[in-house]
Amino acid sequence: MLIGHQRIWDFLIKSAKQNKLAHAYLFAGPAQVGKLATALEFTKWLFCEKKANQKESCGRCKSCLAIESGQNPDVLILAAKQITKNDVLKNAEIGIAQIRELQHKLSLFPYGAPYKVAIIEEVANLSDEAASALLKTLEEPSSHSLIIMISSSWQAVLPTIVSRCQMIKFLPVAEKEISLKLASLAKKEKDLKLAVKLAVGRPGRAIKFLREPELLLEQEKEIGVFEKLLKSPLVWRLEEALKMSQNIVLAQETLNQWLLWSRDRVLEISGQASLAIAPRADSDLLNKYKASDLLVFCREIQKTQEILNNSSFNARLALEVLMIKL
Ligand SMILES: [Zn+2]
Repeated sequence: MLIGHQRIWDFLIKSAKQNKLAHAYLFAGPAQVGKLATALEFTKWLFCEKKANQKESCGRCKSCLAIESGQNPDVLILAAKQITKNDVLKNAEIGIAQIRELQHKLSLFPYGAPYKVAIIEEVANLSDEAASALLKTLEEPSSHSLIIMISSSWQAVLPTIVSRCQMIKFLPVAEKEISLKLASLAKKEKDLKLAVKLAVGRPGRAIKFLREPELLLEQEKEIGVFEKLLKSPLVWRLEEALKMSQNIVLAQETLNQWLLWSRDRVLEISGQASLAIAPRADSDLLNKYKASDLLVFCREIQKTQEILNNSSFNARLALEVLMIKL
């Protein structure tokens, strides 16, 4: 199921119909916004035996069903693996062996589909060796292969890779659209509203919240931590910055919640409490801040999020600066 990204979908379909597909794409955008879902849906459409002139795949033919169950041999999905070096668990990485295996498979003709499609999840996780190996494939593309690279931090992808593919930027999806498509997954209207708000335009995140309701409760707890943090001495906040800097993906999630909390408090202060979604544990805090203070919070949090998206900056420093400004 595709939620949002209609403009991108139309562009891909049009390119395919006009035989103008690039040999490699980079789908760039926030985590869980729908990049992988779009890559898979598009592959399904490309391979569908019964699409005729339709803008969507049939979802029922052998090829569609094989892709849905992850069984189509012409669809190669590559994801990072956790690796250990000298007994230390390193960040997940796509290694040279994985790229070599992919290159071998791409060199073979497709079994039944018009292309062999390789989907590389989080291409920023390529090791240096793997990146230079992939570069060769991008420089000498074969006529029967299509490579779709995915990244939520494309600024960290080697510029030589970025320059050899067509980049497509995915933007957050409108809340209304996510709510409409996910209404059937939610047991309560309140859960749907909260899940969509906390997902900040990322349908994949909203789906996760609805499928695992305990995650919604955890978010409420996290907001309690933020309120505590606002009242804590700087030393405590700096410790928190250090903890957060150790997992950037989680830190981004936490910052999203802080952003939502600040936005909701502005709504409350301006008499629009019914529009607020994020729960509030501590009413004293409201007296402490003016709407203008909270808007400054929002801007600072967003600035920090942008910095964290770019891995060449020092995450700990950025988070510490944020803690000082809050
Ligand atoms: Zn089909």
